[in-house]
Amino acid sequence: MPRAPRPPTCDGVEREAFGIPYRLRRTARRTIGLRVTREGLAVSSPRWTPEAEIERLILERRQWILDTLAAAEARFREFVDLRPNGHIVWRGVRLPIRVSKSGYDAVTFCNASCEVASRTGDVPITTLEAEMLRIARALLPARARMLAERGGIAIRDVTVGTAQTLWGTCSADGRLRLNRRLMMLPPELADHIIAHELAHRIEFNHSKRFWAALARLDPRWRQHHEEVRRYAVLLEPF
Ligand SMILES: [Zn+2]
Repeated sequence: MPRAPRPPTCDGVEREAFGIPYRLRRTARRTIGLRVTREGLAVSSPRWTPEAEIERLILERRQWILDTLAAAEARFREFVDLRPNGHIVWRGVRLPIRVSKSGYDAVTFCNASCEVASRTGDVPITTLEAEMLRIARALLPARARMLAERGGIAIRDVTVGTAQTLWGTCSADGRLRLNRRLMMLPPELADHIIAHELAHRIEFNHSKRFWAALARLDPRWRQHHEEVRRYAVLLEPF
């Protein structure tokens, strides 16, 4: 069964049909679109489509929706299970989470485990996110500068954002923004994402010339590009 929905994060309206919670967004599109992520079902529909018609479509696709939700959740759990004796993937390695009861909250990413001190006995998710951000800010900008220098690419600055839904972005004037969740990827895939953003310094699009620029920075880009897709689920909220 799908998880209970999170509070709406967009302008969508929370509804439910046939036991499936969904967010409805009215747009200028001409057909009804269904998108399933771990967070639930998102429906976009033309402004004039009656709700009964939307619900009929949900009923028709019900099994597909439930299967897709379950698959997304399973993929996420493969990487992240934030419970005592759960696990979290870190630099591509699945670390067991070891929680000890304490008077304060702290999270330490070690080589072979994720050590957690916790007041409640649960994994303090805000503390974990803060520690991931701290490490990402300490490592990723330096790594990006190194890769930029190696590739002979000028960049203006590199920041690690907090509210990003993409792995990285690059502005037209050379500002890279990287996602803290890159710390969870195998290092060669994090480098690939950085290389991708750096290649946008040469071609600000995804044209043939862009991929050629990326190939110079990351000769194994095809394989890496494919591998990163498996981790896309990590871009969703914990
Ligand atoms: Zn791109």
